[in-house]
Amino acid sequence: MVFQVKCPFCGEPGSVEIEPADFEPGEYVLVQDCEVCCRPWTVRIQMDPNGATTVSADRD
Ligand SMILES: [Zn+2]
Repeated sequence: MVFQVKCPFCGEPGSVEIEPADFEPGEYVLVQDCEVCCRPWTVRIQMDPNGATTVSADRD
């Protein structure tokens, strides 16, 4: 499943691909480099017990 995010450094759109079924409900953090500017996003994944998934990219 691909989630669209906006790079917090260069502002270009990007995507994070994760499989929500692999995660228990909770919050997760991973690092992924921007494909445009190569700076590291801090990707926060929020898995709600109802199945909703929120993904955001931040500088830290
Ligand atoms: Zn970028």
